[in-house]
Amino acid sequence: MIPYGRQNIDQTDIDAVVSVLKSDFLTQGPAVPLFEATVKNLCQSEFALAMNSATSALHVACLALEVGAGDYVWTTPLTFVASSNCALYCGAQVDFVDVDEKTYNLCPQKLEEKLAQAQKENKLPKVVIPVHLSGLSCDMESIFKLSKKYGFKIIEDASHAIGGHYKNRPIGCCEFSDIAIFSFHPVKIITTAEGGMALTNSEVLAKKMELYRSHGITRDENLMESTSHGPWYYEQIELGYNYRMTELQAALGLNQLKRLSQFIDKRHELASRYHEKLADLPLKRPTFQSDDHYSALHLYIIRLELGQITKSHRQIFELLREKGIGVNLHYIPVYLQPYYKKLGFKVGHCPQAEQYYKEAISVPLYYDLNHQKQDTVIQALKELLT
Ligand SMILES: *Cc1c(COP(=O)(O)O)cnc(C)c1O
Repeated sequence: MIPYGRQNIDQTDIDAVVSVLKSDFLTQGPAVPLFEATVKNLCQSEFALAMNSATSALHVACLALEVGAGDYVWTTPLTFVASSNCALYCGAQVDFVDVDEKTYNLCPQKLEEKLAQAQKENKLPKVVIPVHLSGLSCDMESIFKLSKKYGFKIIEDASHAIGGHYKNRPIGCCEFSDIAIFSFHPVKIITTAEGGMALTNSEVLAKKMELYRSHGITRDENLMESTSHGPWYYEQIELGYNYRMTELQAALGLNQLKRLSQFIDKRHELASRYHEKLADLPLKRPTFQSDDHYSALHLYIIRLELGQITKSHRQIFELLREKGIGVNLHYIPVYLQPYYKKLGFKVGHCPQAEQYYKEAISVPLYYDLNHQKQDTVIQALKELLT
């Protein structure tokens, strides 16, 4: 099976992890801060906090922004469930803003309409979580302007997007957000097996996230309520978690980062090849590059023009799988999940997202996909769609 995504691990990655295993620190050593500093410099943000997953980083980001019971958090329905679960962990209520029909990202116009309505009902969101689907940035400048007008905070779920650019700056720079989150799950752009990172330009938010990441415990005397009892002393001043990244993961991440631009270049080369060779088929190809955007290309998502095809979406999907092509679908609109339906969400809530769900297929795209395998995918699509 040709998978839709896959990590690239080379001998230097293996050596980096093995050298940590032979060192003094398996956790809480030098690799994590070095990984953080490297990502922070690469992304031009002020602070970066590594965690054991992007899900943990999203949770901690919500806590730092004081999301709690009685608050509303909005996100896009076309995302992994973690983007909205993080608000539920904090006891907040979630709602979903429909997507733009061209980019499939959270639509700023629909956001504005929903904000105007929410203002009347006194139900404005505390936080909005735009997700850069497939690595293409949302229209952050518009969302940022709305955040000033309506007074909400922004967490960018940039899980797909490390290495991408928006308005000539790296995604993760937080120019138009309070916090940005990356994921290092193996299917994403670089991997630490499991892992994530939260970036911010706010020292206050960085300090809070640091506390929540590690049990709410501090060794900073300025934050303590009592004077120190001695060199062993620490205080727990918040209810935090153990969301720390290990040294093994950080060493792997650091080494993977050296190949980041190589990874992104290869993804663009393959995406351009799909773009050219799929041009005449009854499908919509994704946007991955424009004046303001340079996608990290986590995914290559096509949308079938079902009116021009005799087979159904599901048939094409299943036939591709039968041919050994590990296609996938990102994503089932989150509010259609049984857990969310029980919270009261109904079919029809976000019509664009639901239409997308009827047509979308993620085709294989990863660093080690060679032209021969890619041609197998292209040939299969040609056979099935014409
Ligand atoms: C992968 C992903 C996450 C969760 O990442 P983990 O590191 O697996 O916790 C969150 N949001 C989006 C959009 C993702 O794709």
